[in-house]
Amino acid sequence: MVRIMFDDILKQLCNYYERKVFPLNSAHDLWFKKTENIPDEAAFYIRDRIYEELESFPKNLPKIMWAFYHEWIEAHPEKRAKLNYFNCPDCNEGLIFCRKKNSDDKYIRYVFKCSRCKQDHTPGYPMDSKKGLIEKGYEFEIPFAAPVKRSLADIKKSVGREIPAPNDYDMRPSP
Ligand SMILES: [Zn+2]
Repeated sequence: MVRIMFDDILKQLCNYYERKVFPLNSAHDLWFKKTENIPDEAAFYIRDRIYEELESFPKNLPKIMWAFYHEWIEAHPEKRAKLNYFNCPDCNEGLIFCRKKNSDDKYIRYVFKCSRCKQDHTPGYPMDSKKGLIEKGYEFEIPFAAPVKRSLADIKKSVGREIPAPNDYDMRPSP
């Protein structure tokens, strides 16, 4: 969300709840930093849901905005792919893909939401840090076939499945 949009929504909320806090202050800067990854197009939906659900100005505005953003994205899953992800050294667009051997000594793929950047909000994936996962024995060197590129969507589909043996891959030499 761009700053001008955030300030506009904030002023509307303040007016609606008769909260006299202008001009915008440093708390508002912090709120903005915590919500700037919410896309602009969700802003009015979030504002209207706050109007509907809250009797008074929210105590924790960023938290309630993210909660209603999650509601919006669940209603509009097609919007998800358009989000701009920011670079995090620990993950891929907010998700950590890894593998671990099961009791039959076979690798299973897992996916976690990255707790370092917290930019993915897909329901159903647990949250953990790369460091924490390494300590729990997860591995990150998944031998994807080179040079065949796999899309993120393909990788997501493979989560929870057994990883094929290396000779199942198309092992052409790297360029
Ligand atoms: Zn991350």
